Amino acid sequence: MSWQPDPARYDADRPGAMQYRRAGASGLKLPLLTLGLWHNFGDDVPLERQRELILGAFDRGVTHFDLANNYGPPYGAAESNFGRVLASDLGAHRDEVLVTTKAGWDMWPGPYGFGGTRKYLVASLDQSLRRMGLDYVDIFYHHRPDPETPLEETMAALDHIVRSGRALYVGVSSYSADETRRAHAILDSLGTPLTIHQPSYSMLNRWIETDGLLDAAGELGIGVIGFTALAQGLLTGKYLDGVPEGSRAALGSARGSLDASLSPEAAERLRGLARIAESRGQSLAQLALAWALRDERMTSLTIGASQFEQLEQNIAALGGLSFSADELTAIDELARD
Ligand code: NDP
Repeated sequence: MSWQPDPARYDADRPGAMQYRRAGASGLKLPLLTLGLWHNFGDDVPLERQRELILGAFDRGVTHFDLANNYGPPYGAAESNFGRVLASDLGAHRDEVLVTTKAGWDMWPGPYGFGGTRKYLVASLDQSLRRMGLDYVDIFYHHRPDPETPLEETMAALDHIVRSGRALYVGVSSYSADETRRAHAILDSLGTPLTIHQPSYSMLNRWIETDGLLDAAGELGIGVIGFTALAQGLLTGKYLDGVPEGSRAALGSARGSLDASLSPEAAERLRGLARIAESRGQSLAQLALAWALRDERMTSLTIGASQFEQLEQNIAALGGLSFSADELTAIDELARD
């Protein structure tokens, strides 16, 4: 029999129920946790495990899947593999999910395969749509600022992408507060909202608080979805006693490099955070996720998982989202860049 999703996936009163927040001033609701496909969805991972992760996430109310043109390996493979799961199972529920992709980093050789030009962004999105077998994506991002292309050109390309029906909403990733304000103003003048920003954010990486990005997003009504809230696994505590077999750091160069070496000072801070987590009845990973969601301006976090059990444990963080002032103060002393 064909796959059938869990009929209880949207039941708000079941244990571990997903919660949703609107992205900025838009009406679009995102699940607090989004499944990110940067790692674990390339051609080096069996499709069956990918399918289990994607469908398992959907069964738990994760309605948002975050991709990019170059997620793999090889580049494009995550989109192709996600497209396979759409074709075999999830596609029947297309209107229940948000599919996100991006372009900005290098994708194909030559001068038109990276950056922020209209030429690259439109071509890349067309390729992404073909790989996924979709007519449109829900959110399309410019993946990183491109100092060589006028911001007016990049934003006009995003506006065109929405007007041509290739994406419903657009966003930017890793733009500074100043760049975000400029991007917002240009898009606003064109009549297309800047719906969302995707920056890095974690207990070990708090630049969006000091750069003014979170304030700018709140003020301008832009949603925020943080990436690497688990610092690629460091904030799960799994690297405190060395590099475990099968972990991302152990797989090493096959997937890019994660330097999991911790200075004694950093390890001590992680142990301190783990003690705070324990006092709250959470794992360190669960604390890291709940903490990153403590500000309502944070719409969602896009997180990775190599095993479905990780995702289940991480979703359980949503059962403990509130913090006392004392807990926040104690965390502030340890959660530093
Ligand atoms: P995360 O911080 O979410 O780390 C995820 C990794 O941590 C997993 O793959 C797994 O690694 C480990 N992990 C997760 N949960 C647990 C757990 N409960 N117990 C033990 N280990 C766990 O970062 P990612 O690098 O995966 O990035 C997440 C997403 O962010 C990406 O998929 C993408 O969507 C987005 N992103 C966006 C970028 C941008 O420029 N816009 C850049 C980078 C990421 P292991 O393999 O060791 O099991």
